[in-house]
Amino acid sequence: MPQDSYDAVVVGAGLAGSACALTLARNGVRVCLCERGAQPGEKSLSGMVLYGRPLAALIPFFWKEAPVERPIVRRRVAVLSRDSELALDLRFEEFNHPPYNYTFSVLRSRFDRWFAKQAADTGATLLTGALVDDLLWEGGKVAGVAIRGGATLKAGVVVSCEGTNAFLAEKAKLRDRPPHRKVAVGVKEVLAMSREVIQERFGLEGNEGIAMEFYGQSVRGLVGSAFLYTNQDSISVGLSCSVESLIAGKIPPAELLAQFKRHPA
Ligand SMILES: Cc1cc2nc3c(=O)[nH]c(=O)nc-3n(C[C@H](O)[C@H](O)[C@H](O)COP(=O)(O)OP(=O)(O)OC[C@H]3O[C@@H](n4cnc5c(N)ncnc54)[C@H](O)[C@@H]3O)c2cc1C
Repeated sequence: MPQDSYDAVVVGAGLAGSACALTLARNGVRVCLCERGAQPGEKSLSGMVLYGRPLAALIPFFWKEAPVERPIVRRRVAVLSRDSELALDLRFEEFNHPPYNYTFSVLRSRFDRWFAKQAADTGATLLTGALVDDLLWEGGKVAGVAIRGGATLKAGVVVSCEGTNAFLAEKAKLRDRPPHRKVAVGVKEVLAMSREVIQERFGLEGNEGIAMEFYGQSVRGLVGSAFLYTNQDSISVGLSCSVESLIAGKIPPAELLAQFKRHPA
């Protein structure tokens, strides 16, 4: 049951927030994990390949219970010209066996929900649909948070795990808005594809996964790269580019992604 007073409030149930809330709850701290989405992961856009070594330190053998998609056994790094490709294709046989190099493709909508549940099962209170709008201050110290809609939570410690767009931290003047040249924009699509087609098209066996990165004409020579990751029965395709180069290139990210998907190689 949510209360109105905690030892700590963690803002954002992404990877950082759930790891933080889980660690605090394990240490007996009364912690509330606030997530603006209706479910953790709902707002996340990442690709994503999870580099899970730090997670294994928190939850050993996490891959046995977490909703991971495929262990990344192959990596392909390619430079595209207008119609061809120069690629380095690496395969690591040992990554096909536990602990799988701790590296898996994941879908954040599933993974974040599971991770936040680990924190909640350990004793953290998970509040979803809770957009933290502001910090509460008392005597020059942070004393809690205000949630959009009027509710407040008191807490001696507030941890901002808002991700890149840390509006709360910026509003409290704890962080400056990063300049354009330091910010990239990412776009991604998850496309349904049967296991058989994934295996045939990418030369994979069983549950093997591949992570592919593309440079050069994949992003029309802009500062950035495109990616493709195989999931169980879908692929994640996307790209990210610096905001500055997108403005200079005068091309919307969604159009860049559409062009990448049409590349003949
Ligand atoms: C297209 C793309 C592809 C990427 N691919 C990869 C990859 O393959 N591998 C990799 O390691 N990283 C990848 N990243 C980066 C990765 O997404 C981030 O490093 C990671 O998500 C950061 O985790 P986080 O917990 O700090 O923030 P986030 O995952 O962004 O989580 C922040 C959470 O806080 C919530 N939140 C924010 N503000 C509030 C608020 N005021 N109140 C309540 N809740 C709030 C959000 O809804 C969200 O759930 C990718 C990023 C993009 C954009």
